[in-house]
Amino acid sequence: MIDGIFSGNLDFEKIRYLLLLEDEKQIKQLLDKARTTRDNTIGNKVYLRGLIEYSNRCAKNCFYCGIRAGNSHAVRYEISDEEVLEAAKFAHEHRYGSIVIQSGERSDKEFTSHISSLIKQIHHATGNDLRITLSCGEQKEEVYREWYRLGVQRYLLRIEEANPDLYAKLHPSDHSFENRLKSLKTLMDIGFQTGTGVMIGLPFQTIDDLANDLLFIRDSGVVMVGMGPYIEHTETPLYEHKDKLLPETKRVELSLKMIAILRLMRPSINIASTTAMQTLDPMGREKGLRAGANVIMPNITPVAFKKEYDLYEGKPCLDDQPDECGMCIEHRIKMAGCEVAYGEWGDSKFYSKKS
Ligand code: SAH
Ligand code: SF4
Repeated sequence: MIDGIFSGNLDFEKIRYLLLLEDEKQIKQLLDKARTTRDNTIGNKVYLRGLIEYSNRCAKNCFYCGIRAGNSHAVRYEISDEEVLEAAKFAHEHRYGSIVIQSGERSDKEFTSHISSLIKQIHHATGNDLRITLSCGEQKEEVYREWYRLGVQRYLLRIEEANPDLYAKLHPSDHSFENRLKSLKTLMDIGFQTGTGVMIGLPFQTIDDLANDLLFIRDSGVVMVGMGPYIEHTETPLYEHKDKLLPETKRVELSLKMIAILRLMRPSINIASTTAMQTLDPMGREKGLRAGANVIMPNITPVAFKKEYDLYEGKPCLDDQPDECGMCIEHRIKMAGCEVAYGEWGDSKFYSKKS
């Protein structure tokens, strides 16, 4: 039994030990402990964030990502304002409480002003009753400030991997780890409820890296986390290292351990059970909830665009309409022994405590 390990703080050695667990009973013990910790701290409610994959145009070239600028096979799109508003209204009417607008990264004025205009239109259309999260990558401080001023409460910017050497291996040389870190800090200084996260099971990534990722997340002060397995994409430079990958089941298992350990370290933050989990395992998102996650992001992108937002291959439910996703998710959340928090913004209790 591994009970002893849970007493006192989880330090690097303990985290490493937990990540390396092989015995199924012990792994279950870890995941159960995380779930009870969540239930006893913030309860079993799951918050919904309607995900709008706004555009797959991206100026960057991360080696792992299917919509990188260098992928000439990607069919590029941008959702019209009307369609974004329709998706936002859908989320509002179905009492999702919040939406996430995610996009490839562009820092040109046309893009950043367009996002500003969308924020205003969404607030207007939903009576300021919907929390908006943006996930549009690294931007200048003034742009972040403008979006905050317009009423964006949350921002998601994954650090991707907290080891600068690994970061350098997975990005071209003009992508800067320091800038990503600085952007995260700026977002927090401005006052956003800030989220970060990492990919799990990347080529070259070690268990020590993952243990340090968790310590980084714990100490960064973020209040939301989205972590999930890395999934290969043929049209990316990283694809050539696919022989270095763990089998899919192991990547899911490792992701569940990561979620569980983070829940033990930060009982009151919001942790998402990501689509990437479901991509590698049909029950992946439910398993994430059972391991202590408390956020799900139903995809409300218009069906016509879903398949073009292919960060990785095998994305599930490409033909499902938003209302089908909604019903399916409610069912899945219940199966995981949780309750859907309809009509709640779902700010992290950790954020409320900090403020
Ligand atoms: N462009 C923005 C937001 C969109 S990408 C940004 O990069 O921050 C959103 C997330 O998708 C990234 O942070 C990354 O963690 C994840 N992602 C990209 N490619 C992936 C892959 N091949 N497997 C798993 N996750 C991936
Ligand atoms: Fe662009 Fe984000 Fe993909 Fe990097 S991860 S290529 S920034 S969409």
